[in-house]
Amino acid sequence: MITTTPANEKFSDIEKKYQEWYQKTYSPDNQKGTHVKLPEEPTVEGLEKEIWVKANLLADGLKFDASALEGVCDLYKEQSRWLFDWNIGEHAYYLPEELLLPMGTLVQVRENRDSRWLCTAEGGLLVLKRDGEVVIECRHIPRPDYYSQEASPGVIMRRIANFRGQDCLCINYAPYCMYWKNDQGCRFCNIVPNMRWTKDDLQVSRRSYEQIVNTTRVAFEEGCVRHILLTGGMIDQHVDKDGNTVDREDKMILDVIQAQQEALQRDDIPVNVIRTAPKDKDLKSIEEHKKKGVYSVAYNLEIWDPTLFEFYCPGKDNLQGRDHWLRALEVAAEVYGPGRVSTHFVTGFMEPESSLLEGVEWCAERGISAIPLIWSPVEGTRYAKFRAPNADWFVEMAKKMVDIRLKYNLGAFEPAASPNDCYMCAMPHVLADELRLRELQRSS
Ligand code: SF4
Repeated sequence: MITTTPANEKFSDIEKKYQEWYQKTYSPDNQKGTHVKLPEEPTVEGLEKEIWVKANLLADGLKFDASALEGVCDLYKEQSRWLFDWNIGEHAYYLPEELLLPMGTLVQVRENRDSRWLCTAEGGLLVLKRDGEVVIECRHIPRPDYYSQEASPGVIMRRIANFRGQDCLCINYAPYCMYWKNDQGCRFCNIVPNMRWTKDDLQVSRRSYEQIVNTTRVAFEEGCVRHILLTGGMIDQHVDKDGNTVDREDKMILDVIQAQQEALQRDDIPVNVIRTAPKDKDLKSIEEHKKKGVYSVAYNLEIWDPTLFEFYCPGKDNLQGRDHWLRALEVAAEVYGPGRVSTHFVTGFMEPESSLLEGVEWCAERGISAIPLIWSPVEGTRYAKFRAPNADWFVEMAKKMVDIRLKYNLGAFEPAASPNDCYMCAMPHVLADELRLRELQRSS
């Protein structure tokens, strides 16, 4: 079972600092606000309910009243829309990034003002109601101190690197995706409109080397993060004046890693890079990037079926091609070894269950973690007014996917290798939560 945590051993000093920060921040004596609390001891029934609630909130979105938003941007962490805007329809500007359910399940916020779900404060508690009836308590995530500090004059660090979930520092190295140049972007994605919507406040379009060094150093010194997720859109290759082909996506990634190595004063850093498949035909860059400090990788295929992939991910299909993409995943699994390679699938979008599960099986056979993101019909795409399937469909899919993974002895990968397998990292799916539930069932 791939549940070993070499990263925790390798980065034990970071882990120790994080544990101290966590205990201090969530301690009842030191609460930042009344809606920050230590999680309760999980039970099987409790986690089953939280998974169901999470799937509902991701599939249907939720609305907030004013009482639930008090303290957001001050005591509690705000949404930074650092990569995509996942909200459904018209939405408020400052929302919480996530909500925490009592046993520790983290839910990405997707505001939908037409949802039957409401978050409100009642009797001193933050609660989630469905059709007016209280379903469960929820909590806010404390806002880290580094968010308000300046990465450079006039630019706060939240705009450089956000804090996702409860322990993950995220940097978007490329808020623009060049697949969009010729209308070849993935059809479910709104990275480019999101860049326009957020650039005057939530994001900066270009992060300088110094801003990244400063933000990474201060966030890790605070102790609120213990691993890094690096991602962004596709950036193409160009030929320099000497006739050499330069892959600008590779360069951007390696520049950020160098800045973070400088910030943390070490070559080995706990960084997961989620990117498009490397473009070099022989895929030698995979080994080179590992040598230069990449700890783990994800190349997101998004859709398994070849015809649907061609239709809904035209840029990926035309530039790299599906066969090359699959080969890149296989080579990465050989180079990085067990538990350090993953790929996302956008579930509930256009692909049938049987095809998705075939893709999950292909990945599991090779020791690759397949992550089933719950599709959101977001603004800025041609599917903005569509609906995701019923929440129960996503819960069932996660169970089937975990069954396949466990058949191949793939438990949850460590967070530095796959933040998406970690229930504390708040990715929009319920696979990490289902893996956590299975672990609890095994041990109880
Ligand atoms: S690769 Fe696809 S999903 Fe990723 S940013 Fe570009 S268009 Fe969006």
